[in-house]
Amino acid sequence: MIPLDQAQEAVLSRCRRLGAVRLPTGEARMLVSAERVAAAEQVPAFDNSAMDGYAVRAEDTSPAPARLRILGTLAAGDFPREALSAGGAMRIMTGAALPPGADAVVMVERTRESPDGEWVTLDVSVPAGNHIRRAGEDMQPGQVVFESGCLLRPAHLGTLAGLGVATVSATRRARVGVMSTGDELVAGPAALAPGQIRDSNRLSLLSLVAESGAEPVDLGLARDDAEEIREMITRGSQTCDAVITSGGVSMGSFDLVKSVLDEMGAMSWMQVAIRPAKPLAFGLVDDVPVFGLPGNTVSCMVSFELFARPALMKMMGRQSLHRQRLAALACEPLRRWPDGKTHFARVVWRYVDGVYEVRSAGGQGSHQLSAMAAANGLAVLPDGDGVDTGEPVELICLGE
Ligand code: AMP
Ligand code: MG
Repeated sequence: MIPLDQAQEAVLSRCRRLGAVRLPTGEARMLVSAERVAAAEQVPAFDNSAMDGYAVRAEDTSPAPARLRILGTLAAGDFPREALSAGGAMRIMTGAALPPGADAVVMVERTRESPDGEWVTLDVSVPAGNHIRRAGEDMQPGQVVFESGCLLRPAHLGTLAGLGVATVSATRRARVGVMSTGDELVAGPAALAPGQIRDSNRLSLLSLVAESGAEPVDLGLARDDAEEIREMITRGSQTCDAVITSGGVSMGSFDLVKSVLDEMGAMSWMQVAIRPAKPLAFGLVDDVPVFGLPGNTVSCMVSFELFARPALMKMMGRQSLHRQRLAALACEPLRRWPDGKTHFARVVWRYVDGVYEVRSAGGQGSHQLSAMAAANGLAVLPDGDGVDTGEPVELICLGE
């Protein structure tokens, strides 16, 4: 058996960052930018109101209360050309351009209008600049908005949209083919013959791929037949940036993925000192990474988390490849036995009074997918006999 970090390094060192493409800004979510973007225009484009209220001359507001004549109404989208005269006020909505001459806004909550709508009484006096958003306060022309290598989160895409930037260059989204292997597997809801089981790994893995920000491609289900497996991996390697298989990598007589990958590409077959997910086959077929994940339903998901996901992150140019690990406390015993492996227990975490508390999510067998579904994290249990109530434990967060 080899330690986890060594196995991860063996995988990561053979995965390369994908090339960059220029794509519509709206399709770049969670990709990594491959260019520096500078603002071509100022944002906001003009001085405007931060509140619904009245545009005024600050000097007209003191002493409070001040009574001003209402000269009109400015909605967002209006662009006033006429100056506000002394002793006057204009109703102004959030985002509307300030009229020339006005240098402050009084929020509507601090005002009273006369019943005929001719006059407004301001209950407060305000300084110049009050509730005004200045032109260029967010971004100035020429200002670098973000550098190459920046993860494009929703706010970045909104920023680009706000600057009228229609396309952006980013490291490509990885296309990832997913296939299942096994004579016993049935796809879909068809009745099961004795001994058959349903193919659940394919959907779990396709979903994990999508969740990681890559593009999932369903390659299908291959029988335990070397030719069929070879054809499916070939199709995957020709049309995708990575291929993920499940099943057929352990010690059984029909575990053909290992031998097929061995023939097809520079393959390493590893026995990793972890539980679940000890066996892992990994190789390059025509430079395309192929992950042979174990067949057990929980094992294949944990193996994806520990090996495939970080590799996809690297391929897509991400800086942080691994999920965040947090210091947590066990709020019930998380038992295991010494076996030379690191265990990844399926747990439920809650954040209570500043502490991450974890408890078991249920049955810890590598086939007990319902506990994986109930879990929102993995507790890392180093070799030994586990942790007791109240003891610290490392937590990998998988969700909320
Ligand atoms: P294997 O490594 O192919 O021997 O598979 C290990 C275990 O995982 C066996 O019990 C398989 O039936 C099961 N298994 C393999 N592939 C899948 C799959 N796609 N969906 C659900 N269970 C699977
Ligand atoms: Mg099998």
